[in-house]
Amino acid sequence: MKKYNFNAGPSILPHETVVNTMKAMEDFAGTGIGLMEISHRTKDFQAVVDEAVALFKELLNIPEGYSVLFLGGGASLQFCMVPFNLLEKKAAYLNTGTWANKAQKEARLFGEVVEVASSKDANYTFIPKDYVIPTDADYFHITTNNTIFGTEIHTDLDSPVTLVADMSSDIFSRPVDVSKYGLIYGGAQKNLAPAGVTFVIVKDEILGKVSRQIPTMLDYRTHIKDGSMFNTPPVLPIYAALQTLKWLKNLGGLEAMYRINREKADLLYSEIDRNKLFKGTAAKEDRSLMNICFVMNDEYKELEADFLQFAVSRGMVGIKGHRSVGGFRASTYNALPKEAVQALVDTMQEFEKQH
Ligand SMILES: *Cc1c(COP(=O)(O)O)cnc(C)c1O
Repeated sequence: MKKYNFNAGPSILPHETVVNTMKAMEDFAGTGIGLMEISHRTKDFQAVVDEAVALFKELLNIPEGYSVLFLGGGASLQFCMVPFNLLEKKAAYLNTGTWANKAQKEARLFGEVVEVASSKDANYTFIPKDYVIPTDADYFHITTNNTIFGTEIHTDLDSPVTLVADMSSDIFSRPVDVSKYGLIYGGAQKNLAPAGVTFVIVKDEILGKVSRQIPTMLDYRTHIKDGSMFNTPPVLPIYAALQTLKWLKNLGGLEAMYRINREKADLLYSEIDRNKLFKGTAAKEDRSLMNICFVMNDEYKELEADFLQFAVSRGMVGIKGHRSVGGFRASTYNALPKEAVQALVDTMQEFEKQH
């Protein structure tokens, strides 16, 4: 049976990414030696890093004065590296979900943290919009896509202080005005590559302003200076990331990707709104294009387990909702074909007919 991969992360990758990486694992760049078995300092691998950095810059239209880094440690290590490098006295955080909350918790170890707004009391079903960012904060931290709750900040915000964004689960899903951000980071395993590599896009001039000592490995300047080669970088995930970046470019770049993502999300949200059995959990204007959360309508609550079983029997994988929301979550990342969303919609319609 055909499987449709709606996993939230790690998640579906373009077929080319999987196939090309598999081939390179056996024979990298025609060297006759496998990708996992070469030095990261070879000319051939340096070319991979250089091309991946160049494609990041091209696809996201990154202005001069920014560096692109490939690090280890996941987005979760960035929760600590960001304040380590940027927080002198005070930082502002927008609390829009589990990950935003975790980021904020780490920052509290380094200085004063102002939570400018939170939707926690509403189980993070919306993105707060009325808040004031203190102008004496060293930076303002946001999570652009809330993977667990299915809400997303759809525009590039204006911030009077350095804007820092966790874009783990929506990077490359739409064009971004990078010039509005001081730092963007994310784990690669949602929309780019297998787990193991973390991307960081940082404006060089925001660094070097805190008075504390920073351990070498946690100092962004180390990795800028050594081009992500201070120590052994995650070679295989970086190679896979390059394949995804090439795939994105061939597809027509981020404008094209954004259009496809909107079509996919519209298709599923329309069905959620139309189908009498289901309802969405996130505020409409904040609905994520990447993680679509829905539950059974109140009068059909007892059908939840049945629908899950029915969907699984139709090839749907990974649609069980996160325990903090319940119901269902369909992750519609870049690599998920529209055909998969259509298959889920068909499944929902068929289930509706049976009830
Ligand atoms: C998955 C996720 C994380 C955690 O990433 P790790 O690489 O596992 O540390 C952080 N933020 C967001 C928005 C995520 O989706």
